[in-house]
Amino acid sequence: MIVSAEESINHPTLFFHCSGRDLPDYAHKSFDSFLVENGKIIRRDFGLETMSRFRGYTQFDLGGEVVLPAFADVHTHFMQTGLMLVGCRLDRARSLDEVFDRLHTFAAAHPDLKWILAWNLDESELQENRLPTVAELDAVLPAKNLWLSRIDLHSAVPNSHAMAWAQSILPSAALVGGRFCMETYAFLSTRLQADLPVDFKRRGLELARTSCHEHGIGTVHALEGGDECLNADVALVSDFLLEPELHGVIYHQSLDPTFALQHGWNRLGGCLFIDGSFGSRTAALCESYTDDPENNGMLYKSRDDVEELLRCCRVHDLQLAMHCIGDRAIDFLTEIHVNAFEKFGPPPLPHRIEHFELPDDTALRRVREASLFISVQPAFEALWGGIGRMYDKRLGAERVLRTNPFRTLLDCGIPIAGGSDSPVTPLDPFLGIDGFVNHPNPDERIDLNSALSAFILEPHRFAGEDADRGRLGPGFRADFVTLPSDPFLTTPSKLRELRTSRLFLEGRPVGHSPSKGV
Ligand SMILES: [Zn+2]
Ligand SMILES: [Zn+2]
Repeated sequence: MIVSAEESINHPTLFFHCSGRDLPDYAHKSFDSFLVENGKIIRRDFGLETMSRFRGYTQFDLGGEVVLPAFADVHTHFMQTGLMLVGCRLDRARSLDEVFDRLHTFAAAHPDLKWILAWNLDESELQENRLPTVAELDAVLPAKNLWLSRIDLHSAVPNSHAMAWAQSILPSAALVGGRFCMETYAFLSTRLQADLPVDFKRRGLELARTSCHEHGIGTVHALEGGDECLNADVALVSDFLLEPELHGVIYHQSLDPTFALQHGWNRLGGCLFIDGSFGSRTAALCESYTDDPENNGMLYKSRDDVEELLRCCRVHDLQLAMHCIGDRAIDFLTEIHVNAFEKFGPPPLPHRIEHFELPDDTALRRVREASLFISVQPAFEALWGGIGRMYDKRLGAERVLRTNPFRTLLDCGIPIAGGSDSPVTPLDPFLGIDGFVNHPNPDERIDLNSALSAFILEPHRFAGEDADRGRLGPGFRADFVTLPSDPFLTTPSKLRELRTSRLFLEGRPVGHSPSKGV
C-alpha cells in the first residue's frame, strides 16, 4: 500500500526512495530505505522495498529527497518567540521611518490590543544608528501602551503610556541612554509578560511550533521563565511541549531549583545572566568598548552567587546552564566551574555555558578541565560578525577576530551545539549553519558535517537524550527531515537559503500537512 504525506501513519511503515544520511559522514548516502515501527527505526538499508518479506508494510515514497535526522535547536526562548510572532516585528528595518510605519500598520490591524509589543529592533542596522525616543513613539502611538524591545532582549524603549505603567509598578524606573536596561528592563519585561492573557500566549506558542515545522526542527531546548511570576508561563510551555508535534526540553531560568525539581527536570538555568550582551554594551569585557571607552560592561552575579548555585546543583544532581558572553565574564565563570569540578567531581550531565562569545586560551583550557558543554549561536556571526558590522563597532579590529571561535573550540575537543536564541535570531538551522561554515573569520569556519551535527545530534547529547534521538539507526526515534537539495552540493554562500520540505516525528508527518490546515 502506498500512502501520501497527508495520511497519518499508525502502523509499521517502509520509507523508501531517499538519499539517507547520518553520522559519521552526512555527505555519504548510507541508506535509501528504512523501516519504522512504533515510532522507532528498526532497520535501514538499500532496496528494502524490493524484498518480498516487507510487502505487508505500508510503503512511503520519499521522492528521492535527501533524508537527515530532524534538526534540534539547543537554545530558544519559546514563549518569547511566540510573543514575538504575535507582536509587531521590526527585524531588518532600515530606518526609523520604516519602524514607525510598521508600528502604525500593526496597531491599525489590531485595534483590540491594549499593549503593542514590538520586537527585534536593531538600531545598528538603521540609517540613523540610534533608538527612537519616547517622544517619537508617542507621536506614532499616542493612545496605546507601546513596548519596543531591542533585538538582544536586554533593553527596551517605552512610549509615555508604557512609561507611566512602568513607574506605577516600579517607581524608580528610569531610562538609561533612552531605554530601560539591566535590572529595570528585566523586572519590567517580566511583569509585562506575566500579565498578558493566556490565549494570546497560547496563540504565540502555536505560531512558534509552526515555525519549527517549517524549518525542520523536531526538538527545542526551551529556556523559560525566571521570576516566580512567570512560573505559570513555564508550566504552559512545558505542557505545550508535551503535545506530540514537537519535542521540548525545559530549562527553568531560576536560581531556585524548587520548580524544576517539582517537575522532575534534571537541569536548571538557561539565560541566567553572568553578563549582558555586546549589542547593549553590557557584556563584561577585560578592555572597554571601542565605541564607549568609559564602559567595560558589568558582571550581574557575584562569585558567592555562582558558587552557591553550583553547590545547589551538586546537591540535587542538576545540570546548570548560564549565559556568559564577554571575556571578563567568561574568565570569571570558567574559573568558578574549574574549582567546583575539582571539589565536587563531574555532574551527571556536564554543565553548559550559553553563548561563550569571546573566550581566551585560559578559558578554553578551563572548559576542558571542567568538561563543560558550550552552547553557541552561530547566526550571531552571520548577522553581526566581521569587519564593519556591530561586533566590530563595539569591540574593534583586534577583538572582532576573536568572537565565536568555532574552529578553535572543535580543535580543542570541546563539544559545541547550535542554537538560535530565538527570538533573537529566527528558528532556522540553516542560518546557523551558514554562520558556522561562512564565519567572517576564515580561520574559525567549521566544515559542513560538524555544522550539521551541531544542529542535529549535539543538542540531544547536551540534554542527555542522545540514546534514542539524533541518529537514524535501529532503536532511534524516526524523527527526520527531507530536503529537495543536497547541502553538500550547495555553494557555501547559498546554504542559508536551503529549506526542508517535510518533517516527520516518530514516523508521522507533521507541520506541512494540508489536511490539518497548517
Ligand atoms: Zn543569553
Ligand atoms: Zn538566550
